[in-house]
Amino acid sequence: MPLYEYRCQMCEETFEKLQRQPEQEAPCPHCGKPAKRAVSIFSGSADGNGGGCSSPSGSGFG
Ligand SMILES: [Zn+2]
Repeated sequence: MPLYEYRCQMCEETFEKLQRQPEQEAPCPHCGKPAKRAVSIFSGSADGNGGGCSSPSGSGFG
């Protein structure tokens, strides 16, 4: 089950919730107000590894 992040605008509480479907809102565990879903936590910034395949073209082996 995917994990979704929510952010409460009332108390600025950030919490994650396991849901089958990305709900627009989820009850804040802190104040109980409906918190809006934050942007996806799946960001494409793991490490600064260049995505360039530097392999010598033309490999004749025999
Ligand atoms: Zn809250």
